[in-house]
Amino acid sequence: MDRETHLWHALDRQAVLDALSSHEIDGLTTEEAQERLRRWGANTLEEGKRRSWASVFIGQFASPLIYLLFAVAAVAFAMKHTNDGIVILVVVTVNSLIGALQEGRAQRSLDALSRLAVQTARVVRGRNEALVEASDVVAGDILLLEAGDAVVADGYVLSAHALAVAEAALTGESVPVHKVCQPVPGEAALGDRTNMVFAGTNVVAGRGRVVVVATGAAREIGHIAQLAQQAKASQTPLEARIAQFGRYIIWAAGAMFVLVIAIGLARGISLGELVMVAISQVVGMVPEGLPVAMTVALSVGVQRMARRKAVVRRLSAVETLGATTVICTDKTGTLTKNEMTVTHVVMAGGRSYEVAGTGYEPRGAFKHDDQDVAAANDDLLIELMRACVLCNDAKLLPPEGEAGAWKPLGDPTEVALIVFAMKGGLNPAELREHNRREAELPFDAAARMMATQHKTEQGVQVFIKGAPEAVFDLCAGQDHAALKQAAEQMAARALRVLAVAKVTDVGIDQTTGFRAFGSSATLLGLVGQMDPPRSEVKDAVMRCRAAGIRPVMVTGDHKATGLAIATTLGIAAPGDEAVDGRELASLSDPELARRIDKISVFARVDPAQKLRIVGAYQKQNHVVAMTGDGVNDAPALMKANVGVAMGITGTAVAKEAAKIIILDDNFATIVAAVEEGRVVYRNIKKTVLHLLSTSAAEVSVLMVGLMLGYPPPFLAVQILWNNLVTEGVLTVNLVMDPPEGDEMSRPPIDANEPLLSRLLRRRMFFMVPAMVVSTVGWFIWRSQHNVPLQVVRTETFTLLAVCEWFNVLNCRSETKSAFTLSALQNRWLMGGLLLGNALQVLVIYWQPLAQVFHTVPLDAKQVLFIGVAGSLVLWVEEARKFIARRLGRAAQA
Ligand code: ADP
Ligand code: MG
Repeated sequence: MDRETHLWHALDRQAVLDALSSHEIDGLTTEEAQERLRRWGANTLEEGKRRSWASVFIGQFASPLIYLLFAVAAVAFAMKHTNDGIVILVVVTVNSLIGALQEGRAQRSLDALSRLAVQTARVVRGRNEALVEASDVVAGDILLLEAGDAVVADGYVLSAHALAVAEAALTGESVPVHKVCQPVPGEAALGDRTNMVFAGTNVVAGRGRVVVVATGAAREIGHIAQLAQQAKASQTPLEARIAQFGRYIIWAAGAMFVLVIAIGLARGISLGELVMVAISQVVGMVPEGLPVAMTVALSVGVQRMARRKAVVRRLSAVETLGATTVICTDKTGTLTKNEMTVTHVVMAGGRSYEVAGTGYEPRGAFKHDDQDVAAANDDLLIELMRACVLCNDAKLLPPEGEAGAWKPLGDPTEVALIVFAMKGGLNPAELREHNRREAELPFDAAARMMATQHKTEQGVQVFIKGAPEAVFDLCAGQDHAALKQAAEQMAARALRVLAVAKVTDVGIDQTTGFRAFGSSATLLGLVGQMDPPRSEVKDAVMRCRAAGIRPVMVTGDHKATGLAIATTLGIAAPGDEAVDGRELASLSDPELARRIDKISVFARVDPAQKLRIVGAYQKQNHVVAMTGDGVNDAPALMKANVGVAMGITGTAVAKEAAKIIILDDNFATIVAAVEEGRVVYRNIKKTVLHLLSTSAAEVSVLMVGLMLGYPPPFLAVQILWNNLVTEGVLTVNLVMDPPEGDEMSRPPIDANEPLLSRLLRRRMFFMVPAMVVSTVGWFIWRSQHNVPLQVVRTETFTLLAVCEWFNVLNCRSETKSAFTLSALQNRWLMGGLLLGNALQVLVIYWQPLAQVFHTVPLDAKQVLFIGVAGSLVLWVEEARKFIARRLGRAAQA
């Protein structure tokens, strides 16, 4: 289609529908939609090209370290050490290959995950509402929009109820635009086309029905080049910290370089030999494996979380989850099952009923004072149930076939009201047919009400339902002290309470909203719904507490309802406080800060207050995870350290604002994700420990050797082999370590802790000397027995590799003995160890390699002794761990 002809906004609705051969009520048929999809293509933008394997490989060379190595190779060639020059180039290539393989694997798994979070859209196909993938939407489709939806295609508005769309992404305008069905002049700018909606924007309020006019690259978003490009993933805080750390190390390595040369010269070693060794040493100190290890660790974490139903949208969430100290969670659906059943009704006159029955099956008796009664005998009750059905967007579909079950469609709160009305003998479909809806004020999380206007036999009627306090305000003409008390009582029994009212003399006014009713509404009654807690949550709450994390309920529901459920689940301990939105508003920031540690339930909070709650915790240095589903939750989700969106009930807007999405809406899943975050963090620290202790040991061996007046214990090429090959196949596999099992019985990770924490420093204090003593000791001992230097170097070179192999086993746990950690649980690490052994055998026994690395074959006895000597570091760590365990137990006792 041609751009010039795209003046849809200037046409009237029928012209648009005709041009697109579509129908407002029927939509397209499924066949027609498929045909159009085939003809016009999918509703997607040209996807950003996936990085090819070759480019990942070439990317490995883009680091200062590699440049340095090339410089060393150049020096080697210049000094006619052709052999060494070639070795360096080969080693660099092998190392880059390993890096590219790891990174490619990580990238692939992340790609697979991003496909998990596909966008969907609600369209009308053959008269019925259907949920389709956004890519399957075609021009002519009737698209249904409501608050929280992402608009996936450009469309012309056919009808709108208080429809407002945030278009900042497209026009830069931050105020939402109200959409109406009315032609606009042809020359109107994008932001003034109030009868059009555009892909890439979000519905923030109301609902509407639009006909799709453009999909794929024909959409306005397709003309905005910079939007089409995916935002680049920025560094996570830990990645940034590691990069910073790497820069320190480079300085340290520079200092070491000067030192090695100075000492060597003083000892009369030739500059030519020294320069090579010193540069290789610098290479050895730089933890080049760390960035790749980070990428792999995070992607492994992402995969593990996905397996536990948490989809990560921003990599930084993985590490932040590990450091989380407060989880602010919704109630409905997250802590509870979101399977509502109406169990209590209190009429405006004071008469009350209990309603029996479970699930969505519309069968259950009404009881009054423990006596079965017929609902049809109470006219007011009938009126109440009528309002419940009409002021309602949900549906209940009858079972298909013999064994089928009733199928709910829509908000469970509303489905429950339909089930309730059907139990009372009403027929929802018929009622809705005879009392057509003329206007509506959709449910609004801030007002906590909704209203619909109907044309009935008794004239125009408006029905309102919502939170009792809100509805009571509109019924100021009545005395409802008794009902208020009844509502409190129901709430204290963990019921979700809705008040239902009727207005007959005022119509719905879109611009003034609920205020238009003043106090003219007549209360019909209260409806109490039960929503049972999820069975796994109680346990998850306990795990949270053991892990030093505070669970806090933040709900739109009534304080008493929230507190009752929080108490059942263990979220509110005896003595904890519950605060509702009004009380919260009256608290000053210092007051809130003082009380916040006692509060475990925030009730009747509006979305703006969620933001304040997050801020209050953050001011006390908490790392906050906050759940959200509605469009208004987006700011709080973004402000929280980890925004958590609901996979099932969450709106597209909430999902976009969040860092992770929990697919099953379950609180227990958040806790599982925290656990995985801790595993990732721990594994990264293991990797840091191994890399640094190895580097430190290597430098120390060299320095001690030189200072004691010996020639360098290794050759430059051997140092390179050790760093890039031995370490390359080993270290990164530490990030694949499974959980140790005690992740959730320790306090949260301190997000500000230095990378080289006290604990790591303490552990290195044992590891490094152990490795140095065995390696240097061996070197001196053998040198003094006049063993030829080439043999001693081969032995020392191998011994250092053996030390690393033993030490990687040490690094797997801080306190657990290496012998108690199953080798098979980390097949990657075992594979890496085997590969490392095989490569070491090759470099010693395979003539071509042995020649370039200046090694000589070792006999069985030498190998055995080297093995024993190299295990020293294992025994030292085992001893330290043993004592640490003893002290730990003593501290606990
Ligand atoms: P929650 O924290 O339980 O998810 P919500 O924000 O969904 O709370 O709901 C807050 C209050 O708004 C409820 O207690 C109820 O009184 C009212 N409410 C919820 N859903 C509807 C609805 N569909 N129509 C009218 N009122 C509703
Ligand atoms: Mg809710």
